[in-house]
Amino acid sequence: MKLLFTHVTAILPDRLMEEAWVLCEKGKIVSISTKKPKVTAETQIVDGRGGYLSPGFVDIHVHGGDGADFMDGTSEAVRVACRAHARHGTTTIFPTTTTGSSEQIHAMLDAAKAVQAERCIENGARIAGVHLYGPFFAEDKVGCHSVEGRREPTAAEYRAYFEKGIVRIATCAAELPGAGEFYREAKKRRCLITCGHSNASWPEMAAAFKAGMRHVDHFWCAMSNVASVRSRLGVPMRGSMLEFVLGTAEMSTEVIADGCHLAPELLEFAFRLKGPRKLCLVTDANRALDLPPGNYRFGAAEDGSWLESDGRVGWAPGRMNLASSIVGMDHMVRQMKRDTSATLPEVVRMASLTPAELTGIAKQTGSLEAGKNADVVLLSRKLEVRRVFIGGSEMTL
Ligand SMILES: [Zn+2]
Ligand SMILES: [Zn+2]
Repeated sequence: MKLLFTHVTAILPDRLMEEAWVLCEKGKIVSISTKKPKVTAETQIVDGRGGYLSPGFVDIHVHGGDGADFMDGTSEAVRVACRAHARHGTTTIFPTTTTGSSEQIHAMLDAAKAVQAERCIENGARIAGVHLYGPFFAEDKVGCHSVEGRREPTAAEYRAYFEKGIVRIATCAAELPGAGEFYREAKKRRCLITCGHSNASWPEMAAAFKAGMRHVDHFWCAMSNVASVRSRLGVPMRGSMLEFVLGTAEMSTEVIADGCHLAPELLEFAFRLKGPRKLCLVTDANRALDLPPGNYRFGAAEDGSWLESDGRVGWAPGRMNLASSIVGMDHMVRQMKRDTSATLPEVVRMASLTPAELTGIAKQTGSLEAGKNADVVLLSRKLEVRRVFIGGSEMTL
């Protein structure tokens, strides 16, 4: 089957191509050109009606949506969340664990693996791997996750997770005993290694970096700063995760650009300091995505912590602290475009090619380039999702 997109502005990694013709065949992108390619009778023409053709988004940090959390641990929950995010333009997803028991994490890994194996368009975004996020968080930075479900890394526990062969991103707080061993094991497994929910100092980050850590989860959220490290370690004041990430070119990070977690100046600051090749957009969305305001479990349905959605964002009980987002990647792209000086190709890169590069899947997906999967999204001029194609098959929205 051949697909030909026409009347679109193609969003390429480095520029926009007006009036582009994008030809796809057998699930792959074949050519991108301003000249009409030869078509045969069976070529299906897709009229973009003057909108944008964007690479499908890649979300490396996401907990659920449409009522399901990946930690519910069932195949059906995984399918529901992957479908919900595909409706928002995410074509590649990394289901993300929360804190919880090792049984819950194993159930989540098994469910993600089962859904990955039955790949079909009805299941929505393709699963490129799991982000092992909880449970190895620092106790004082556990955020909205259940504190009972956090613990220190032990080789027996995390080796059993890695053995499943689906973990592609691995998080651990750098100051925990055993973090170095965890990072070295994750490096052997070729994971993107990240430090999150942590109150680490610069020297702890430097040791983690030596062990392979290269990324920090949701910048400014549940991470250390000079003041928080001072209250942990006393004087002299020390560098924190923040200074380490900003001062180390190889370090990448991510922002929750939902308009609720970070003010425009912080989004602009992160973009200016890290640039579009080291900054990712993530949704960090919970199960309340696309559901009405109300109370929902964050993490597993049976014992996850409670959060309250007000229809814009999730709140921890008492409404003093935020508890992850409730919007999709299309929202993050619009917000980042509105709030920062990043160009549209730069914004889209942060939601597609950059996370694909960091997780080692950029040969297959993440940009409009010949040879890659036909994972593409038709957007309106206002960057609203119109149609979604994964591997050249159209998803019913
Ligand atoms: Zn988090
Ligand atoms: Zn999260």
